[in-house]
Amino acid sequence: MSKYDYLIVGAGLYGAIFAHEMNKAGKKVLVVDRRSHIAGNIYTENVEGVNVHRYGAHIFHTNNKEVWEYVNRFATFNRYTNSPVANYKGELYSLPFNMYTFNKMWGVVTPEEAKAKIEEQKKAAGITEPQNLEEQAISLVGTDIYEKLIKGYTMKQWGRPCTELPSFIIKRLPVRLTFDNNYFNALYQGIPIGGYTKMIEKMLEGIEVRLDTDYLANRDELDTLAEKTVYTGAIDEYYGYRFGALEYRSVRFEEELLDKENYQGNAVMNYTDSETPYTRIIEHKWFEFGKDENGNDIPKTVISKEYSSEWKKGDEPYYPVNDQKNNDLYQKYKDLADKETKVIFGGRLGEYKYYDMDIIVEKALNAAGR
Ligand code: UDP
Repeated sequence: MSKYDYLIVGAGLYGAIFAHEMNKAGKKVLVVDRRSHIAGNIYTENVEGVNVHRYGAHIFHTNNKEVWEYVNRFATFNRYTNSPVANYKGELYSLPFNMYTFNKMWGVVTPEEAKAKIEEQKKAAGITEPQNLEEQAISLVGTDIYEKLIKGYTMKQWGRPCTELPSFIIKRLPVRLTFDNNYFNALYQGIPIGGYTKMIEKMLEGIEVRLDTDYLANRDELDTLAEKTVYTGAIDEYYGYRFGALEYRSVRFEEELLDKENYQGNAVMNYTDSETPYTRIIEHKWFEFGKDENGNDIPKTVISKEYSSEWKKGDEPYYPVNDQKNNDLYQKYKDLADKETKVIFGGRLGEYKYYDMDIIVEKALNAAGR
């Protein structure tokens, strides 16, 4: 008889929800994480009253009412609506692509004018069936927007030209012929008041968590503790990279605490030219309207410059590169995973998919249900 029913590897969103549900169902669970904190990449840390998103900005958004109600059991969400500003060599544009963007780019005033402009540019580029991200982008918003707001940013984020990237990446962004700066087409959106770490803490209440515990380095010993394992780390690492390493993009943050109240006037500013070395600057306080827990204005500000790089062993993997080559390689690992009887793979790294948080919640609830 093992001591635990489930060993959960990874205290991120997926692991915490799975652990919570199993604990609630009366199972004995142990959560381990090799980091020295819980919450995975949604970890937030309070710096002078500002909740800093240490592993990059996370904005919760979903159309799924069940998912929304579920996360609201563990946190109260604020009314933050994501509305990044694109900075192209000092010219500022609204995101996502909408009438404000088109007006600034072309001086067009009506939706018909904007539509005609896009059509004209798409036609001039001769694209009928988009085959890659570049063609997809041009056919959605035209050449000018592609050149100023997409090409450089995407190249920096993915380290590959847009012609070599799958088109689904750009379809994440809405294109609207209305004056609507909301980045997401989601019914529900917000940031947990007090930070994501608190939300995960609440999910893990009453559950044994061992931090600084590297599962893969202590596998034999940890495996004897539980009947089943839920593994939310990178699937290729789990299998010792035996078919080769999957590609990921990694991100590095340069964080600064500034002795001023307002640096850029917005939580997210994307630098969309190809020369600026970082992709975006996050000014964390604006995720919470510049107020601390007690509703007071925060006198200082914390900014993070985000640099994207190709992942190599030892780096933190962030974005899976879901192109054909990597998806094929992933399938080989997935075939092994499907044969496992004692291990469940979950989460962005366990499934090698570019998932948003709401999908992770849904997946974790489904897996726990099963
Ligand atoms: N993108 C862009 N310009 C921008 C913002 C996004 O070209 O100013 C493209 C880019 O290819 C990026 C994709 O849209 O990889 C998805 O962006 P999203 O904001 O969804 O990425 P995330 O927030 O997940 O990093």
